[in-house]
Amino acid sequence: MDERAYYTESQAKRAATLNCPSCRTQDTYDLKWMVRKKVEQVPRGADERDRARFAKFLSYMVLMDDKAMCKNMRCRKRFDISGIKTMAFI
Ligand SMILES: [Zn+2]
Repeated sequence: MDERAYYTESQAKRAATLNCPSCRTQDTYDLKWMVRKKVEQVPRGADERDRARFAKFLSYMVLMDDKAMCKNMRCRKRFDISGIKTMAFI
């Protein structure tokens, strides 16, 4: 069974503090995450193995953004998001 049957997907925004590598300004950015929330019931048609995998499955979210645009008006450079976790269990 496909793991996709174990969760529902939605998007969420979460604030993160990032430092621009160009101007070194620290600011808060709303980053986009894909949230994969475990469904409450074992999916239909699950066999023993699927049930075991489902039991171990945990809801998690993955960061979708990989770049942010600096909020400093004199900089406005795009930079790679780094220093934060890109995957988290919820
Ligand atoms: Zn900057």
